Amino acid sequence: MTNPQENPRPRALSGMRPTGKLHLGNYVGALQSWVRLQDSYDCFFFVADWHALTTDYDNTARLADNSLEVVLDFLAAGLDPEKCAIFVQSHVKQHAELHLLFSMITPLGWLERVPTYKEQQQEMPNKDLHMYGFLGYPLLQAADILIYRPGFVPVGADQDVHVELTREVARRFNQFYKLEGKPILPEPQTLLTPTPKLLGTDKRKMSKSYGNSILLGDEAAVVEQKIKGSVTDRPKLTDRGNPSQCPVGNLHQIFSDHERLAYITQGCTQASITCVECKALAVESVNAHLAPIRERRRELAQNPARLRETILHGAQKATVAAEETMAAVREAVGLLRLGAVEELTEKEESTATLRVPEAVKAARTEEEKWDIRVAAWWEQVNKVHPLRKDRRGIFITRKGRKVGVHAAEEKRDGWNFEFENRPVNVIVLLAEDKDGYLHPYVLPPKFLQEHWKFGGVGDRWVRKINGVAILAVGTENVSIQEYEGNYSPLQ
Ligand code: SF4
Repeated sequence: MTNPQENPRPRALSGMRPTGKLHLGNYVGALQSWVRLQDSYDCFFFVADWHALTTDYDNTARLADNSLEVVLDFLAAGLDPEKCAIFVQSHVKQHAELHLLFSMITPLGWLERVPTYKEQQQEMPNKDLHMYGFLGYPLLQAADILIYRPGFVPVGADQDVHVELTREVARRFNQFYKLEGKPILPEPQTLLTPTPKLLGTDKRKMSKSYGNSILLGDEAAVVEQKIKGSVTDRPKLTDRGNPSQCPVGNLHQIFSDHERLAYITQGCTQASITCVECKALAVESVNAHLAPIRERRRELAQNPARLRETILHGAQKATVAAEETMAAVREAVGLLRLGAVEELTEKEESTATLRVPEAVKAARTEEEKWDIRVAAWWEQVNKVHPLRKDRRGIFITRKGRKVGVHAAEEKRDGWNFEFENRPVNVIVLLAEDKDGYLHPYVLPPKFLQEHWKFGGVGDRWVRKINGVAILAVGTENVSIQEYEGNYSPLQ
C-alpha cells in the first residue's frame, strides 16, 4: 500500500462507463466532484470499458472511440494528469485477475440480490442479459475498487449499495486469506458527493439513450437549441411552475448565480416571467460555464500526443499500484509466484556453473584441491538444499539420504573419477573444466541402481561428446547430461 510518508493524501477511486461524449448529467453527477477531489486526494479515475461490455457486448464498434471521447471530456472538464491517474480499465489487467479471484469466493446470492441486477433487466427487456458478465459486474466493480486499496470511493447516495457489496467482498476475502496474519484489503468508505438533480430536456432522467441530453462538448448554438426546445413545467403562460421539476429550472439551480436563480424562481412560481425569458437566461448561464471546457476540449482534440501521454502515464501509474496489491493478494491466496520459480532457477544455475576459488591454484596436493572444490560446491548448494557434512566426501540430506561427492579436473580424455564403491544413495560428480568452472552431476538412487553399481573401482569416466556429458561405467556409456545441475535428489 502507498506509504503515507511518501503520499500523505488519502486515496480515492472512481470510474465511468465509456458511453461516448459525456453529458451534463455525468458532469454534475460525478466529474465536477472529481475535479475538486484531485487537489486533496490521491485519485485514480478510469474509463470502465469492460463494464460497457456487460450490457453492450454485441455492439462494440465504437467502444475504443468512446473511451477516447471520455478521456477527452475528463481532461476538458479539468482533471489534471499531473494530479491524478487517468486510465482505461482494460489497460490494467490486474483488475480482471482480482475479479477472477473474487468470483471464487462470492456466493451467487450476493450478486442476484443487487437491486440493479433485476432493475436493468426490466429496463432492457429486449436485451438478453442472462450473461455471467452482467451478473458479475458488481464483483468486477469490487475488484476495480479494492485493487487500489483506496480509503474512499466518491459516489452519489444512490450508489452506496455497490460500495457496501465491495466492503462485504473485502471482508470475505480477508476472512479466507491473510498475509502474515493480517488482512490485506481494507474496506473503503463511501465519500458522498453532491449529485444535484438534472432532468433531460424531455423531463425524464438525462441519458444518452433517451436523446434528451446536453453534451459537455456541445457547441454554444447546439446548447441554445436544446434548451430552447426543452419541455418545461408550465404548459400555459399563466400557470405557476416549480423550477425543481423543470429541466430548465434544474440548469439554473446548477449553473446560475444566486441572484439569477432567485429571479427565475420567483418568476416561475409567481408566473411573472415567461419560459422563453427563463430559457434564454439558462442558455447564457450554461454556455458561460461550458465555454472554457469546450475550448479545452477543442485544443485537446487537436493534440493527440497529450491524450496518448495521459492514457499511457495513467495506465503505468495504475498498473504499479494494482500490481502492488496483486502481489500481496497472490501471496495471501497461496499461488506460486513466478518470481519464486525464477529465483529457484537462478540459484540452480549459479550452482550449476560454480567457479572454483582461486585458492585451488595455490593448493599443494591433489587432496587439498579436492577439498577446495567440494567445499565451494557445498557452500553454494547448501543455500538451496541444506546438506549436513558426515565425513570427508559424504553429506546427509534433509531427508537423510547419504550423498557421496567426488571431484575431478579436466584432462585430455575428460574427467576420471577415482573412488571406491561405498553405500550411498546419491552420487555427485564435480567436473572442473579447463576454465575453472565446476559442473555438478547429481546422480539419483535409480541411476546408481541401474548403472553405477556395475562398474569396478576407479574406472568411471565422464566425457563430453558433442557437448553431451557421457559417463562410462565399465563397458557401458550412459548420458548424464540431464543430471547436470539437477538438485532434486538432494532434498
Ligand atoms: S419559468 Fe423557467 S423554470 Fe419555470 S417552467 Fe418555465 S422554463 Fe421552467
